[in-house]
Amino acid sequence: MNRFIEKINFKKVAILYIIIVLLVGIGLMIFIGNKFQNKLKFIYNYYNISEKLEKDHYNIEEIKEQINNISDNSEDIVDVLILNKENQILYSSKNSELAKNKEFILNKKNNQTNKYFTIPDGDNIIFRLTTDKELIITTVLSNFETEIQKNYENEVFYEKNFNDKKLYLLSYAINNTTGEKIYFINEMHPVANGKTYIKIALATIMFFFMIYWILVALYIYQNALKSKLNPYLWGGLILLTNLAGVLIYIIYKQNNKTCFKCETVQSRNNVYCISCGTKLNETCKKCGTIINGKDKYCSKCGEKIE
Ligand SMILES: [Zn+2]
Ligand SMILES: [Zn+2]
Repeated sequence: MNRFIEKINFKKVAILYIIIVLLVGIGLMIFIGNKFQNKLKFIYNYYNISEKLEKDHYNIEEIKEQINNISDNSEDIVDVLILNKENQILYSSKNSELAKNKEFILNKKNNQTNKYFTIPDGDNIIFRLTTDKELIITTVLSNFETEIQKNYENEVFYEKNFNDKKLYLLSYAINNTTGEKIYFINEMHPVANGKTYIKIALATIMFFFMIYWILVALYIYQNALKSKLNPYLWGGLILLTNLAGVLIYIIYKQNNKTCFKCETVQSRNNVYCISCGTKLNETCKKCGTIINGKDKYCSKCGEKIE
């Protein structure tokens, strides 16, 4: 076992590891990106449109164009509405049922929460107000239905025919000066096996992190072995603490002397290596005291050093 570990060339292993991690990382990003492509595009455009509207000067035509673009390409969008300050509908990207009236006014579903809303003549529709962060999580992981179900069980809704209702996510952007706002109304269609893909990705990352962790411990194990230190102690410490342990190991070695010939770590006060007999320190010719590198006189007897 020790012989095998002694032979490992960790420089080569590290380079190989980095190359594999990069390749797998790129592969993983392409894989996930591909599976969640439409959802990610939606999130990107959602932020882009929101940002544009929130600026002091915005070009509503440009925004409309972008809204049309995402409406055509996202299966999740029910409608995107632009409203003025008085909640009158200025624009609807899909001309859905939701935009059939002049106005779009949201009423609180009940007084318990600011999350659920209805519209006057849309009894079968519940809108769930969604923040940016929630939108991302819900869009990518689609836990929308389960969360609503949970709230339902917690009696946010007291409705017998709950299952007949349509549930829409509603996120919005607003311009504080003009009061114009955009309602993004979505119905979430989960990515098939989306959660499994995320789990696979996380498991892969964990796997490579574990390999890294073990490699560091093995490297220190090898180094301790060469330095005639206890490899089990140091390897074990690194296995438990990783980088913190590496730091302790480096400090420990710096506070001791490493023989330049055989790499044995030993007391810095040794004159000769305890393993191979190589001279480690110069000594005073008169009294034998160890001389520090740049000293001009012996610290014990005052002898001039040549
Ligand atoms: Zn030595
Ligand atoms: Zn001396």
